[in-house]
Amino acid sequence: MAELLDVVVVGAGIMGSCAAYHSATRGLKPVVLEQFSEGHARGSSHGQSRIIRYAHGDTAYLPLMKESYSLWEALERSSDDKLIRKCGLLWVSTDEASVQRCSEILVEFGIEHRLLPGPQIQEVFPQFCYDEKWFGLVDPEAGVIYAERCLKAVRKEAEKKGAEFRFEEKVARIESLEDRVLLVTDKAKYEAKKVIVTVGAWLNEVLPGIRDVVDLQAEQIGVMYWKVARNQELYGPTGTCPTLVVEEGGKTMYMLPPVDYSNQIKFCLHAGEPIHPDEPLEEVPKYARDAPGEHISKHLPDIDGSHPSTVDKCLYTMTKDSQYAIGTYPSDPRIIVAGGFSGSGFKLSIAVGRILTDLVQGAEEKTVVPELFRLTRKRAEHRGMIGKSQS
Ligand SMILES: Cc1cc2nc3c(=O)[nH]c(=O)nc-3n(C[C@H](O)[C@H](O)[C@H](O)COP(=O)(O)OP(=O)(O)OC[C@H]3O[C@@H](n4cnc5c(N)ncnc54)[C@H](O)[C@@H]3O)c2cc1C
Repeated sequence: MAELLDVVVVGAGIMGSCAAYHSATRGLKPVVLEQFSEGHARGSSHGQSRIIRYAHGDTAYLPLMKESYSLWEALERSSDDKLIRKCGLLWVSTDEASVQRCSEILVEFGIEHRLLPGPQIQEVFPQFCYDEKWFGLVDPEAGVIYAERCLKAVRKEAEKKGAEFRFEEKVARIESLEDRVLLVTDKAKYEAKKVIVTVGAWLNEVLPGIRDVVDLQAEQIGVMYWKVARNQELYGPTGTCPTLVVEEGGKTMYMLPPVDYSNQIKFCLHAGEPIHPDEPLEEVPKYARDAPGEHISKHLPDIDGSHPSTVDKCLYTMTKDSQYAIGTYPSDPRIIVAGGFSGSGFKLSIAVGRILTDLVQGAEEKTVVPELFRLTRKRAEHRGMIGKSQS
């Protein structure tokens, strides 16, 4: 009989790596199985940068964000690497009620912020130009989280504490046995007391029965970068350029200052095309290029919005209501699942890793998983990225 492992984590993206970090910190000996090589760019966690922010449209995010900031800061100290740049977030919307709602939530949780009417935005942030149809909110603790550095730091710390990462080993099957869970890979068999499944866009493939619990769709996202044509000094690390989230007429877009590529901002539409995760990624459709380009040309006078200077691709995994799906698998509670992290999960992955470890250690789902993110919750229809009850 094979050695009975404490916990096997399937998938070494940011969620699986954070789960391994917390499990190892608590003295478990996690084995992490990843189908691709270390640092691959075929899932959702690659690239240099993501937005981190307190500003959200639902209270469920705030406790997780408070916890995540403090866990990332602790990791920053132990890894001696800079993981977050607090350059702030400007959230602009043509829907005043949406901005007000976000402000009320931040007040409730004691988070410093301020409202900024559209015409005053340029006085504070000369990079943007909005008129009286726009309403702004500034979240000064927000900014850029350095994705690749976080992934490396969390993995290194997990390994120091006893986690073992095995790359290029694909899990083909997970089977529930009476007293253990069996995992069959393309190289070996493993037996474990508990299994954490954090496979991003591959959840329907790895756990086919998940379709009866939650409707998950992989989407291809075009990640577009645009050249800073003027006033470059405003966009560098010593400039004042914040991150940006835009809500306009049902569309959501977001922007980060130059991090991934020199002198190019990242500005993308928060929407993608359904795809099977094993299929090669396709050309980014015209609408996904046009919407950011049009917004840039109207509101970001220093940026060349005529065409993206660089285009990368990435995968989202969406649930119908765009909220996460975390919990124990109903047909076998020894299998713990976390997926559907859309375009907003990176910043709080370190708190999700803690939740997954709590579940491994027998915590009750309703005490550790916020209702909005529970795997088995009743689901509403998709409502965008940061709208009334969205991230
Ligand atoms: C373009 C883009 C912009 C984003 N912007 C932000 C942002 O600004 N802020 C933010 O907080 N979040 C953002 N996100 C979201 C965030 O990056 C994702 O939510 C997060 O990376 C999801 O991580 P994951 O571990 O669930 O998935 P993944 O990173 O995809 O990891 C899953 C892993 O499982 C592995 N796997 C799959 N099947 C198997 C198998 N059978 N056997 C072994 N391994 C397997 C995969 O190879 C993969 O490595 C963005 C995402 C994208 C794509």
